[in-house]
Amino acid sequence: MNAQVVWDRGVSISGHRLWLDPLVIRTFAFISHAHTDHARRHKEALLTPQTLALIPESRRPRGWRMLGYREPMRRGPATVTLYPAGHMLGSAQLLFEHQDARVLYTGDIKLRQPGGLPTTHVPKAQVLVLESTYGRPHFRFGDPDSTVEAIARWCRRALDSRVTPVLLCHALGKTEEIMLALSGYGFTFALEKRCVPCARAYAMAGRPLPDWVELDGEVEPGRVVIAPPAGKDEVRRLGRYRTALVSGWAKDAEFSRIFGADATFDLSDHCDFDELMEVVERSGAEQVYTVHGYTEDFARHLRKRGIKASALEATEQLALAL
Ligand SMILES: [Zn+2]
Repeated sequence: MNAQVVWDRGVSISGHRLWLDPLVIRTFAFISHAHTDHARRHKEALLTPQTLALIPESRRPRGWRMLGYREPMRRGPATVTLYPAGHMLGSAQLLFEHQDARVLYTGDIKLRQPGGLPTTHVPKAQVLVLESTYGRPHFRFGDPDSTVEAIARWCRRALDSRVTPVLLCHALGKTEEIMLALSGYGFTFALEKRCVPCARAYAMAGRPLPDWVELDGEVEPGRVVIAPPAGKDEVRRLGRYRTALVSGWAKDAEFSRIFGADATFDLSDHCDFDELMEVVERSGAEQVYTVHGYTEDFARHLRKRGIKASALEATEQLALAL
């Protein structure tokens, strides 16, 4: 096969000078989505227009090549195509094709979508580089629509008893997606200051959000507050409030305890264990490399099922022949 997958502070397809979400600044790199652990000031970045719009100014690449979904792009003798990853607005998987070689890099990925949206499509590839954040079997999340409904009921109960419901969500992506998911229930929102630029960017990038104001001291009755899980100073100034952690980490007792929320909901923008297995199945890959999170654990579970798999990060600096 005419491609090699390499790990050197990020995934690379060697011989084609293509870096995938590298942790250090590179000449040409694919940025799969706008979360800060993926965005760097590369000389030139390949990304979707929405991802570019959502990357904070301080992390913007110096140059870029914007690419829409399903628009093949030539890269030397190879072809690169982006597909939606279902993780957040603009998030993309990258399919690399050269002669008979097909390599799929998922970036952060989520298969099951709430609100009747179709399950994320996974292109076929011989080699799959898979994000394995929740790669342990105790991470099995409930149906997203039922969970959104449970969150809505929890918020309504709090508001009915004149208590402010506070949802603890990652500021970029999660906050906006939960607002959209809850919009059908008629809620309005007050956002902690760290969520504010992200909500503005989301709307600018083409996804308008339901009515919200910036949280500023007291909150007018009837609004659902959203704040990032860490650093709840602004939240503590509220009078009567109740908190709920909205995260896949809700399935991890230790993590939930650290955040000390009154309730937890396992709504995640990442695949759970079963969804990760499904990504592998749908891709039809003969070889899987895991990156991020429980890489070793998930690779071991795949090997138990007879699939060739290893953690890519563990083999730092090693070129792996496909
Ligand atoms: Zn992410």
